Amino acid sequence: MKRRAIVAANWKMNGGLELVKTMTTGLNNLDLAENVDVIICPSAPYLSAFEHDKLGKSIHLGAQNVSEHQKGAFTGEISTTMLQELSVEFVIIGHSERRSIFAESSKQAALKVKAALAAGITPILCIGESESERVEEQTEAVLSAQLQPVIDEIGIEKFNEIVIAYEPVWAIGTGKTASPEMAQATHCFIRQFLAKANSEIANKVPLLYGGSVNAANCEKLFAQADIDGGLIGGASLKVDEFKIICSAAKGT
Ligand code: PEP
Repeated sequence: MKRRAIVAANWKMNGGLELVKTMTTGLNNLDLAENVDVIICPSAPYLSAFEHDKLGKSIHLGAQNVSEHQKGAFTGEISTTMLQELSVEFVIIGHSERRSIFAESSKQAALKVKAALAAGITPILCIGESESERVEEQTEAVLSAQLQPVIDEIGIEKFNEIVIAYEPVWAIGTGKTASPEMAQATHCFIRQFLAKANSEIANKVPLLYGGSVNAANCEKLFAQADIDGGLIGGASLKVDEFKIICSAAKGT
């Protein structure tokens, strides 16, 4: 099964105009394999400053969050229409920081996925277990419970239009990466879970790994059969390191 590889940068609440400038210059001569897409997700105020359209068709703009509501009295929220106006093509949904710090539920993530799809914006749906859930062998149950509400909300056919990022919470920003074998086994589980609903679609969904990916470990992670790239936090703020990670991604 042919799948494009994706490397997405999640800047979180970091960076500013200076990083936008250095990243734009740095990605100008990026050496990308065929079938690889790079997505930069800066903080919302910088979305319009990032001139991704001048960088070639493989570099895309992504947002870190979006509201499930269309418009109205939702102070501080950003709608899909606003993202559309800024030529945003992707949006991260259900990141573990949104789930844990902002108490977003899997149902809310599902509604956000639905809203993004309706606006023609590709959701990058994040799922992942905590350290205690991994230790208690609850990983598969947790991932299933995070995916099922999305399947129920949009239907499995719409998974043709989304990207999933598996991000073990214990690996995010901690320097503790899942081993390539552990990450592969979990990605394989995610694909098998989706295959119960539709095996053809399960085989096509790009599955990204996220959690302390860096220049030293990306190659082995990306070489795994069910890992189609990465969602990169800390290392995406360092232009040279991020470029190495992008160059390690290979589409099939
Ligand atoms: C993330 O925030 O999605 C992430 C994977 O962060 P880091 O790469 O820093 O672990």
